[in-house]
Amino acid sequence: MKTIDLRSDTVTLPTPTMREAIYRAELGDDVFGEDPTTKRLEKIAAERMGKEAAVMVASGTMGNLVCVLTHCRRAEEVILGNRSHTFLYEAGGMSALGGIHPHTIVNQPDGTMRLEDIEAAIRGHNVHFPRTRLICLENTHNRCNGSALTPEYMETVAALAKDRGLMVHLDGARIFNAAVALQVDVKELTRHADSLSFCLSKGLSAPVGSVVCGTKEFIAEARRNRKVLGGGMRQSGIIAAAGITALEQMVDRLTEDHTNAQRLAEGIARITGLSIEPEKVQTNIIYFNLVSQRLTVEKLVTQLNNKGIKILQVGPTRLRAVTHYGISAEDIDLTLTALGQTMEKS
Ligand SMILES: *Cc1c(COP(=O)(O)O)cnc(C)c1O
Repeated sequence: MKTIDLRSDTVTLPTPTMREAIYRAELGDDVFGEDPTTKRLEKIAAERMGKEAAVMVASGTMGNLVCVLTHCRRAEEVILGNRSHTFLYEAGGMSALGGIHPHTIVNQPDGTMRLEDIEAAIRGHNVHFPRTRLICLENTHNRCNGSALTPEYMETVAALAKDRGLMVHLDGARIFNAAVALQVDVKELTRHADSLSFCLSKGLSAPVGSVVCGTKEFIAEARRNRKVLGGGMRQSGIIAAAGITALEQMVDRLTEDHTNAQRLAEGIARITGLSIEPEKVQTNIIYFNLVSQRLTVEKLVTQLNNKGIKILQVGPTRLRAVTHYGISAEDIDLTLTALGQTMEKS
């Protein structure tokens, strides 16, 4: 039986070209700065993002943590959204390892934080307060329906940060999904960030890896913090080779994932017992709810699983589906048929 795995865009396997690139990768010891393939990936990534330098890391979580550790010292504070990945799903790393204080404010449904809210969260000078150092943005916003923050919004936040002497970090795990959806060059979305981290192993289908970008000085320090976390890797060109292929070949096709996500959302909207908002999907992530009382989400997930379709439960009534490389329009139709049948029979 064929499996249609919509749990995440991290389930992708490397493409044949990636496997070939991995096989042929020129290698050295990257902790000595001698892995030519890793260096090439870092150069390509920095150029693509419009930054001076880059460093490859093991994961998006490590990328964000390395950046926060590089920007902040102990007892300094980071302003970030209450539905941000860094706050919800990164195991409290900034507090655990950096003694850094997260200050959450409400994420609006479109993934933004209101400017007034950010402004109100910035601390004044007072011996009682932690010092605010950094604002984190997430683009696309995972928990907020994969929505894309616009260059205009990012510019406004950056202007506020600059005015108040703060840094901006961009969790750009899926930054290319945002660029493709908004039809802008990715640099339009990165230019307002002092640092950013993006994933090679999500929509871009590489098996492992993320890249952190910033100024030369910032990256030198980030490299040191990566080492602190045990993230200095040796013949890391094995990973970087697939990353280069990801950047060169896998970005433009993301529109296909967005079209498929929209197709899925429209189909779900027509199925009685399920609800979806918003119906207009911006990128490759959709969330929907089971509103029918006749079955539970657990049961729905199990029944779909029995038909070879995997969807992620993310709450008592909430589900997530993510489209990616390897998921076709036909797979979406099969999923909709299975969902429709399961709901009808319940
Ligand atoms: C997945 C994700 C991360 C973390 O990436 P990992 O490689 O899973 O550690 C960070 N931010 C966002 C928005 C993500 O979706």
